[in-house]
Amino acid sequence: MKDTTETIGLIANGERPETPRRFDVTNPGTGGVAGTAPDAGQEELDRAVAAAKAAFPMWSAKSDAELAAACNAVADKLEQHAEELAQLITAEQGKPLDGIGSRWEMGGAVAWARYTAGLSLPLQVLQDTDQGRVEMHRKPLGVVGSITPWNFPVLIAVWHILPALRTGNTVVSKPSPLTPLASLRMIELMNEVLPAGVVNSVSCQDGAFNMGAAMSAHVDIAKIVFTGSCGTGQKVMQSGAETMKRLTLEMGGNDAGIVLPDANPEQIAEGLFWGAFINNGQTCAAMKRLYVHDDIHDAVCDALVAFARNIKVGEGSLEDSMLGPVQNQMQFDKLSRLVAQAKERGQVLLGGEPGQGLFYPPTIIAGMGADDPLVYEEQFGPALPIIRYTELEDALLQANALDVGLGGSVWSGDIAAAKSVALRMECGSVWVNSHGMIQPNAPFGGAKKSGLGVEFGEEGLKEYTQIQVIFA
Ligand code: NAD
Repeated sequence: MKDTTETIGLIANGERPETPRRFDVTNPGTGGVAGTAPDAGQEELDRAVAAAKAAFPMWSAKSDAELAAACNAVADKLEQHAEELAQLITAEQGKPLDGIGSRWEMGGAVAWARYTAGLSLPLQVLQDTDQGRVEMHRKPLGVVGSITPWNFPVLIAVWHILPALRTGNTVVSKPSPLTPLASLRMIELMNEVLPAGVVNSVSCQDGAFNMGAAMSAHVDIAKIVFTGSCGTGQKVMQSGAETMKRLTLEMGGNDAGIVLPDANPEQIAEGLFWGAFINNGQTCAAMKRLYVHDDIHDAVCDALVAFARNIKVGEGSLEDSMLGPVQNQMQFDKLSRLVAQAKERGQVLLGGEPGQGLFYPPTIIAGMGADDPLVYEEQFGPALPIIRYTELEDALLQANALDVGLGGSVWSGDIAAAKSVALRMECGSVWVNSHGMIQPNAPFGGAKKSGLGVEFGEEGLKEYTQIQVIFA
């Protein structure tokens, strides 16, 4: 079969450097090949970084209005090519085209790009008196290296690249080797509206040479923005120490949801389901453990299972699929192990057996406790453990017991009561009666080992700048 992705390449200085090697990208829904991507090495990385470094003086000298206009042009480009990119995302990531799938991801990418274009960090006058004038400026850092995971390949790349561009930095972007196609194509498209060298790309199979590690240690990269697992994020931090890199690290979590006794099981069932199973549970801020009060435990389980039963799992390109396959074998094996261990003690309410290929049905297991691996490890897949509690203090203690803290949720008919519980959760975001509903105007980041710094909004934008104070 002809490889329709063979024309997707790297970009350095607006040009397409030849890469002698390409690697296969698997379609997790079919087990076939979704396409091929360039297998770059140190030479290609150096070329991309040099291009970004050379473009930095020109780009950082642009006016605020010019930078905003360029980001809006990128948003337009993404919008025009949204369907093409959505098809690539489904082919390599597996998620459905419709529902909360790849078209939704592209809608989010365009919305985030536009919102970021509209942000600004004007100079602040801290003092203007007879004693003198003190101004605080925010200056771009230089070359930003972006390293992304495989769960939302385009959306997360936009979260990294747009704020970097908006603040006058130039970029080298590296997608996950599991989902490089849509991201590389996106960088090609961005280069149709941006000056050469402003955004460059590298992709690599991560074999003997690890591109992310090389970027984290690169002397000419000023900042790494990384989204991925905790362990890899820690490696980025270690490698970046030598060059004192600025870092934004968005890492793994194990979000808890707490259902208070006054919640209405039927009303919250749909929100609970999508809070946990969005993108097949392969979402950083998905609900990964659910604590339910004894009074309504069985009613919540029944309502959740009744909703989950009607969810159609299938190949992403099929119209009626609501969830796709697990994205890769490693993730599938981890999920299978955690569910098998959970079944030894818990009660399987739904699912629990692997399907064909990488398909795994939505799985709900009750009777779980703090010492079950499905509770304390991040499953990052479609399996939700339910933990019964009687005392709220105990539920909070368990929710806060882990060394990660990305998101959390509280479910209740009493918003004020829910908010007071929310304030006691040790995590970066807490939602009341929903979970994981991030938005571009609200800072998003992790507590404890879930990350460093925040993304989105003005607070996120600041992370791409260095403060300079002028005393005159
Ligand atoms: P991962 O850490 O395996 O890989 C992430 C990226 O890091 C990939 O591009 C990979 O090639 C690169 N990488 C590999 N080794 C590296 C190294 N030594 N130095 C630098 N980069 C290296 O994560 P994943 O499996 O792609 O994604 C799943 C994880 O990401 C989950 O833990 C999930 O919770 C987390 N995640 C977090 C967020 C968030 O915003 N907090 C969002 C999505 C995913």
